[in-house]
Amino acid sequence: MRALTELKKECMKRLDQYNIECYICDEFRPKRLLLHHLSYYDNSVTYNQFRNDDVGRLQYYSSLIDEVEYHNDNFRILCINCHTIVEKLIKLPTHERQNFLHDRPRGLGFDRICEDTINAKKDRELEKLGVKTTGLNEFFWS
Ligand SMILES: [Zn+2]
Repeated sequence: MRALTELKKECMKRLDQYNIECYICDEFRPKRLLLHHLSYYDNSVTYNQFRNDDVGRLQYYSSLIDEVEYHNDNFRILCINCHTIVEKLIKLPTHERQNFLHDRPRGLGFDRICEDTINAKKDRELEKLGVKTTGLNEFFWS
């Protein structure tokens, strides 16, 4: 579906990433790519709010585009395969994840995105509890 591909590309162009390709491997075909949320805001658009067909996906990306524009550091482009692996890895304890990725060619990329995701989720939880995480260092050192 051409409109969907174009819309997806429009969303992905709003990220700071130079190329529209998977953050971990070199997949670049738009059909195989998606946007990974590092963390969810209360008003975040989520995939399962929409129907699992082309119409649903069109609605998803047209709703998502503003969020991507506003929080573009909260997203990474991943391919479907790498995303499935990331979602599994972030649920593992750190040492198990590192053992799994040790000596794997794409290990470093996976490790980085898992860390980013886990940290962003922690920050968001702290924020919800009213703890401000940004500027914490300045507070301690001033
Ligand atoms: Zn990939």
